[in-house]
Amino acid sequence: MPRPIEALVHVQAIHHNLNRARAQAPDARVWAVVKANAYGHGIERVFDALRGADGFALLDLAEAERVRALGWRGPILLLEGCFEARDLELCSRLNISHVVHCDQQIDWLASHKTHQPHHVFLKVNSGMNRLGFVGPAVRGAWARLNALPQVDEITLITHFSDADADRFGQNGIAHQMVAFNAATQDLPGERCLANSAATLRHLAEAGVRADWIRAGILLYGSSPDFPEHSAAQWGLQPGMTLRSQLIATQSLQPGDSVGYGSHFVAEHPMRIGIVACGYADGYPRVAPTGTPILVDGVRTRTVGRVSMDMLSVDLTPVPNAGIGSEVTLWGRGPHDSLLSIDEVARSAGTLGYELMCAVAPRVPVHVD
Ligand code: PLP
Repeated sequence: MPRPIEALVHVQAIHHNLNRARAQAPDARVWAVVKANAYGHGIERVFDALRGADGFALLDLAEAERVRALGWRGPILLLEGCFEARDLELCSRLNISHVVHCDQQIDWLASHKTHQPHHVFLKVNSGMNRLGFVGPAVRGAWARLNALPQVDEITLITHFSDADADRFGQNGIAHQMVAFNAATQDLPGERCLANSAATLRHLAEAGVRADWIRAGILLYGSSPDFPEHSAAQWGLQPGMTLRSQLIATQSLQPGDSVGYGSHFVAEHPMRIGIVACGYADGYPRVAPTGTPILVDGVRTRTVGRVSMDMLSVDLTPVPNAGIGSEVTLWGRGPHDSLLSIDEVARSAGTLGYELMCAVAPRVPVHVD
């Protein structure tokens, strides 16, 4: 009998979420962002659901080769570009577009012998301050790339740091749009601008011209600006469920504690359930007592510290629960119940992004 834990990947929901991105940006082409193994869902598992995208954006050539191996002939974009000069060879061979964010990447291109010219995405650092050219350097990089026979198309790309929030009393992309527009004014070429938060919150605004958007977290059904808007409020459906079962129950008397460090002490008689899921499965160890969880589809809370292979739940709202009862760590539960990954993440002081990427290899994953 295998340990009763599994992750389910809801491919129809992911397909639905892609359509949601399309509806939000009807005039733009959509990169489906499948880096980090499709945010933990598995590139091969989600591929069919995302076939309707205009391209796949990802991190490295290993992921790009996996997408080509699935039969995808359309655009693929390396979001951070090449990590070394010889990556360009494979980009040529597999017809992969890539970001260019620094002079060294331009040097590599200039000395690359290619039979097939490259479509490059010139990264403009408009305020995120991770990758890209700033201000007047954008024009210089564009001119260098434009003069190279190795390059046949230059798209301008930038990434927003605060699309999920307000900043400087304005919406979170206003200051970056000013910087981007100033740096790219009059430069020809398409614009690739918006992540999920910008797609959902800002695309309709004046001055935001996006020929391409890059949809990541929204595809997987987590809200990019929780708690302002839940995923359901954005019309998104959960892409993943993590579920397990109760493997034991305990009856506590007042003063009895639960788990390592005795962090939870019962104030009155109560039953708790022991769930076959711990931090070695990817559930966040820092999730405190009170983190929401479903037992038999009924919402309750975790109690005590999360251990490596187990965690404990308060069974007060589910008096009939016992060994074998279904536990939903996040996602869809029985009887149409739902627990948003964002709520669990928030309780643990993190984001849905981190939880979905962290599901451990020992957890079996099934497509639903
Ligand atoms: N574009 C770039 C450059 C990224 O690094 C990411 C993700 O971090 C995305 C797009 C997608 O962002 P999101 O998952 O918030 O939609």
